[in-house]
Amino acid sequence: MSSMIEVKNVSKTFGKGGSENKVLTDAGFEVKKGEFVSLMGASGSGKSTLLYLIGGLDREFEGNILIDGEDITKMSERKLSQLRLEKIGFVFQFYNLVQNLNVEDNILLPLTVKGKKRSELEPELKEILEITGLTEKRKAMPTELSGGQQQRVAVARAVLGNPEILLADEATGNLDSVSGTEIMNLFKKLNEKKGITILQVTHSADCAAYGNRTINIENGRIV
Ligand code: ADP
Ligand code: MG
Repeated sequence: MSSMIEVKNVSKTFGKGGSENKVLTDAGFEVKKGEFVSLMGASGSGKSTLLYLIGGLDREFEGNILIDGEDITKMSERKLSQLRLEKIGFVFQFYNLVQNLNVEDNILLPLTVKGKKRSELEPELKEILEITGLTEKRKAMPTELSGGQQQRVAVARAVLGNPEILLADEATGNLDSVSGTEIMNLFKKLNEKKGITILQVTHSADCAAYGNRTINIENGRIV
């Protein structure tokens, strides 16, 4: 099996001079195509920082990160944003939905702002609404939804366009355990049925167990 994500000797320091904070030290690991991997570690251990680097949201670091065999440290800004749009979906602890747009408009937003036609996206939208169990809610506003439903909208938005990778940062961190289980089952379904490679950060051993494998981070080092 080939690699989808390769992290090689990655170090990251915030701040300069006397106030330096080395957050990642020689971090290295690999996620194969089609894997569902959980990243666990104490608060402040560098999990979110690492996920941001992998997602190309922060380019200031030492070492190399390869996505589907391509070194993002060597890419132009334009190529990297293209890769982010086509290959990577993000889900965060807070759903970040646009409050004055309904469910389907929220899901479509990232691709419609990039100029894709709504009519072209309709078949895929229908499928994603089905998978996430939101078909009945497609015209609902975010305020009419529970936290778990809002997070499902955020997941649908992240995977519309069929990204190869889903990066999730404490996706269940704000949810009750029933809604959290729904999100984990959804991740499992997206991994198994759509072949999406998943790297999730989680505090919960129960959530981590939905993955195929767990990676641990301590003080910025993979252990
Ligand atoms: P985790 O997600 O594991 O809780 P983070 O990656 O968010 O940890 O943070 C790791 C360390 O990096 C913390 O000490 C945090 O204060 C620091 N840090 C994170 N983001 C920034 C930033 N933008 N500027 C300065 N320090 C930061
Ligand atoms: Mg974090």
